[in-house]
Amino acid sequence: MKERVLTGDRVTGKLHLGHYVGSLKYRVELQDQYETFVLLADVQALTTHFLHPEIIKDNVRNVALDYLAVGIDPEKATIFVQSLIPEIAELTVYYSMFVTVNSLRHNPTIKAESKAGDFDDMYYGFLGYPISQAADITFCKATLIPVGEDQLPHIEQTRKIVRRFNQLYQPVLVEPKPLIGEVPRLIGLDGSHKMSKSLGNAILLDSTKEEVAEKIKKVKTDPARIHKTDPGHPEICPIYAYHQAFRKESSDEIYQSCTKGQIGCMACKQKIAQSINDRLDPMRERRAAYLEHPKRVDEILMAGTENARIMAKETMREVRDAMGMNY
Ligand code: SF4
Repeated sequence: MKERVLTGDRVTGKLHLGHYVGSLKYRVELQDQYETFVLLADVQALTTHFLHPEIIKDNVRNVALDYLAVGIDPEKATIFVQSLIPEIAELTVYYSMFVTVNSLRHNPTIKAESKAGDFDDMYYGFLGYPISQAADITFCKATLIPVGEDQLPHIEQTRKIVRRFNQLYQPVLVEPKPLIGEVPRLIGLDGSHKMSKSLGNAILLDSTKEEVAEKIKKVKTDPARIHKTDPGHPEICPIYAYHQAFRKESSDEIYQSCTKGQIGCMACKQKIAQSINDRLDPMRERRAAYLEHPKRVDEILMAGTENARIMAKETMREVRDAMGMNY
């Protein structure tokens, strides 16, 4: 039987090149190897955006369109909306009966968000999101979760919940394994460690050619380079990081030319803007085709959600049977 992969994103904004480099690129490959489920995590987005649900509403379709544009193929992958699978919420409630607050406090994301270990102001939904993550993974019996090394504790929490459930009741849940891969992080246009829409340092996947060129043009490069012949330090320049991400084959050449003062920053930027645009061109074509038939995106989401719901109902039936709550 084919392994089943679950991946997804919180739908709080349009996706950008950082998402592409870090995960979307690999998802397009995964869909050919595994049965792939892609979650539009709108409920999880509420943990931080409950005051502005309208942002989430807009972005369910934006993110779905980004997925389709990068090449996630609805014929191969099931794209679905989290809140339209009520069984996920139901499983979350059941699991929460046997997960201690203390174990949630040790989750790295929860820990990082709590101010100096003070959990008093933390919302219950946020504190419990690792439980809802376990429900996302287990409702469809996903066996593989693509993660970077640093995200292993998140998967461990789900594995613990599965083991506990299977031990308490009957072994009906599947313990997922991490699919550890590189999760490259793309630095922001401002040189900060991460590209992020909220930091305003991102190139969105739906950018036009002109927007890409304009954003790249404004990037601050090595301040030591005043003249083209000044030796540069590519390791501190965001443009060089983009060369490594999008023009790997010629990034050594750029490194040499920069350090020897043989290339000007303007020419270096034009090369990378061109490469990024070359990468985005097929996405632009696919996006334009979907935008001509906007109903098609809704149909894809509904069909994917229906498919996921069938599995969710079956898992819920097994869970209730295992617990003896099948009256
Ligand atoms: Fe950055 Fe390229 Fe200029 Fe070197 S030549 S500082 S890598 S933009």
